[in-house]
This record gives sequence, C-alpha cells and structure tokens, in this order.
Amino acid sequence: MKLQHQHERMMQRLRQQGIQHPAVLQAMQAIPRHLFIDPAMSSFAYADNALPIGQGQTISQPYIVARMTEALLTQGIPPNVLEIGTGCGYQTAILAKLIRHIYTVERIKNLTDKARERLENLGLENISYYYGDGYLGWRDHAPYSAIIVTAAPEQVPTALLEQLEIGGCLIIPVGERGQQALLKITRSRSGYQQSLLDYVSFVPLQKGTIGRTRED
Ligand code: SAH
Repeated sequence: MKLQHQHERMMQRLRQQGIQHPAVLQAMQAIPRHLFIDPAMSSFAYADNALPIGQGQTISQPYIVARMTEALLTQGIPPNVLEIGTGCGYQTAILAKLIRHIYTVERIKNLTDKARERLENLGLENISYYYGDGYLGWRDHAPYSAIIVTAAPEQVPTALLEQLEIGGCLIIPVGERGQQALLKITRSRSGYQQSLLDYVSFVPLQKGTIGRTRED
C-alpha cells in the first residue's frame, strides 16, 4: 500500500479514536510521519504503534501524539510551548504547525541534531532547540503557556511546575514503565490542579545528557 494511502488510513483511525480538534487533525494530515523514522521501516510509519528511533528511544504512537496535542489546546491555542523529549521531532512538528513558537529540549545529542535537520528541511522555523536535561526545563525562556513531556518521570519535576505560567497547563506521563498515568496539571493563582487523561507507556525521563556517539 502506498504511504499516502496509509497516511489517509491513519487519519481515519484518529477520527474513529475520538480525535476531533480540526487544527490537530489538519496538522497530523500535513506532516508526513514516515520522514521521521528509518527509511527501512517506512511501511510501519502510519501504524498505530510506537517505533524505534535509535538510542533505545521511540516515536510515540499517532493516537497519543494527537491526544496530548488536543489536551494542550482545550483552553485555546497557547502562544508558546516547552516540549521535553524532542526525540525524532514528530510531536515537535505537529506542535509547530499549531503554535507560534516551540522550545524543545532533548538529552541525546544525536537525536537533537537529526531532529533539527529534519524539521528545518520541512521548512519549520518557529522552533528553538536545546540539548540538555529536561528535568530542569529551560529556564531562559520561562514561563511557558504550556509544557508537554514525552518521556515519563516517576514524579513531576518541580522545575517544570515552576516554569509554567499561571493559567498554563502541563501534560506529562508519570510513573514506572508500563503503568504510567497521563496527567494534565493546570496552574492557577492558588496552586496546581491535576486531572487524569489516560494510561500510557512512555520511555523513562532520564537525568543528565548523552554526547555525540557514532552509533545511532
Ligand atoms: N516526542 C518524541 C518522543 C521520543 S521518546 C517523538 O515523537 O519522537 C522520549 C524522548 O525523551 C527521547 O528522545 C529521550 O532521549 C528524551 N528524554 C528522556 N529524558 C530526557 C530528559 N531528561 N531531558 C530531555 N529529553 C529527555
């Protein structure tokens, strides 16, 4: 089956799975997912699975990307977003189609560099990249209107709570591998309110950074 046809099937499936936000659907339609993975795996690009992207990491399942993006937009479109876990850059690309500016942080140098090259080739210019430990957020541009984390810590990092604007929301999977809760945490003047969106399975959020390596 042609990749374009598989992309159409993915779009149909997202609608059946309950994704409704027109701008989210438009962004998922506009970004070719197969450009974010190894060409040898192109035929799996549009399936409803996570896939390996090198360095023991994975690109998230299309439904989860759409679900997390929708969750960020429930109070309108935030002007900027901090993303922790650039990975291959697929979620970053979807966000960049919707939001004025994206700040994205990745702890593995090879992944950061490749994602940047891909996103620049797609003509997406409203993204700032940072190679560093996302446990600490990215203080230089804080506070953020929204924060999305695509790897799971065992507890919500306090730096991320601190770097969230009042009225902003943080979407984050929390817990051990295989039993994580996807949380939406909203900051108000009086504190933080938490709600459970789903149960998910992400790779762990890990501390520190990994420099350039030859092996991918
Ligand atoms: N949204 C990405 C998901 C990649 S998997 C995609 O669709 O491709 C999660 C990513 O989070 C991995 O690339 C991993 O290296 C990164 N990560 C894990 N811990 C991190 C940390 N402390 N800071 C920044 N990135 C981190």
